[in-house]
Amino acid sequence: MEDVTVLLNSQRRFYGTGKTRNIDFRIRQLVRLRESIIKNEADIMEALKKDLNKAPFEAYATEIGMVLEEINYLIKNIKMLAGTKKVRTPVTHFPSASRIYKEPYGIVLIMAPWNYPLQLSLSPLAGAIAAGNCMILKPSEYAPCSSRVIGKVIREVFPEKYIAVVEGGMEVNQRLLQNKFDYIFFTGSVSVGRIIMAEAAKHLTPVTLELGGKSPCIVDETANISLAAKRIVWGKFLNAGQTCVAPDYILVQEKVKEVLIKELNRYIRKFYGKDSVHNEEYPKIINERHFNRLLSLMKNEKVKGGGNYSSKLLKIEPTVLEPESIDSPIMQEEIFGPLLPVLAYENIQEAAAFVNNRPKPLALYLFTTSKRNERFIMKNTSFGGGCINDTIVHLATSHMGFGGVGESGMGTYHGKESFSTFSHSKSVLKKSNFLDIPLRYPPYKKKIKLL
Ligand code: NAD
Repeated sequence: MEDVTVLLNSQRRFYGTGKTRNIDFRIRQLVRLRESIIKNEADIMEALKKDLNKAPFEAYATEIGMVLEEINYLIKNIKMLAGTKKVRTPVTHFPSASRIYKEPYGIVLIMAPWNYPLQLSLSPLAGAIAAGNCMILKPSEYAPCSSRVIGKVIREVFPEKYIAVVEGGMEVNQRLLQNKFDYIFFTGSVSVGRIIMAEAAKHLTPVTLELGGKSPCIVDETANISLAAKRIVWGKFLNAGQTCVAPDYILVQEKVKEVLIKELNRYIRKFYGKDSVHNEEYPKIINERHFNRLLSLMKNEKVKGGGNYSSKLLKIEPTVLEPESIDSPIMQEEIFGPLLPVLAYENIQEAAAFVNNRPKPLALYLFTTSKRNERFIMKNTSFGGGCINDTIVHLATSHMGFGGVGESGMGTYHGKESFSTFSHSKSVLKKSNFLDIPLRYPPYKKKIKLL
């Protein structure tokens, strides 16, 4: 407790010097972060291999590359994002001018999960740097090699009074949360998200919660089934299904169900081979607890493809399942692993009702060539974000915000949304002293007639 308080006090003192408010300072720190990531690239790749068996291509495309892109966007746009914005003023306030000033919150706590340990730590961190804050970053203990390398990347270039990495387990989070921060950015499960929000409420600290849930993938009879299967298999089995926006389950129109299942299995074999468990490029499950949880979810379901696993390697084949019923355990919790249940529906209204009867998902994917069905789903379902005729890629852009809605989270980030998330918008009206219209001042008698 004492060490956290000491650290926070040193950050408060540093923040109080006003150094982080300078835009050139922020740009220099973003450049330093970029250089440190590039310098440590080999160590990062090795850590991701050890923690999750991520292949170098996947590690670069979904972690390092995404963070670098975010940093580059922020460096390029920071002056525009941080600039004071002049806005219109209602005529009733004449003569005056209105401006919105962007200011940093102060000390930000960022807590990250283990599945994309680098990206989900350093992307929000880059946004918080750009907005001019000091930061404490807490990576997940379940990806210990990545947590260590993140510590190295940061400590090599930043003093703790500006950016500190605090490593450790859940008890460290709890200790951190007993302190007052000016902003908390949490990525993780819905259940821990509730705890974070309750703790933040004690200090009235604003939060962004990037959570999870069951993201549906709807495939209708008009879809290009083969291409849909290819893109679903890619998005679902990336990182062995341990992706917050992975399609959790498929809702497919009854008529095309069997052909879709056939195509899913064809692409699984094409991408990962006949023996995916021993495929060097196929990621592992993070730990034994999650491995056993996934096996128990699979236990009573009809396997339509895959189903093999290795307890020694903590790997489970990409597996297509047909749930016994919609009340099966696999349809109750976020799967977060390489198991893909396929359920059939008859018409698009039924598919939308299925989604709407459950907590609002983080992502929704729709495969269709029907404009009518596209309009219907966009208008009648609520979800954090998603794709039409693809999976996952909606988050790989600095031009759209990424985040959940309802139980899948609150707040967005990436690109300009990251800057807004970590900044307070201070609205200020400046009045002229040359003219003072007397209408608003008491006594009000008779003035009511003028309104
Ligand atoms: P988690 O909620 O178990 O852990 C996240 C962080 O919270 C870790 O740093 C952990 O140490 C900490 N934590 C755990 N229990 C705590 C407690 N009782 N009090 C305080 N802190 C605690 O999540 P996870 O298993 O690391 O990640 C998987 C979940 O994260 C999935 O639900 C997934 O959908 C979600 N996720 C969401 C996003 C997103 O961007 N929306 C991204 C990745 C993962």
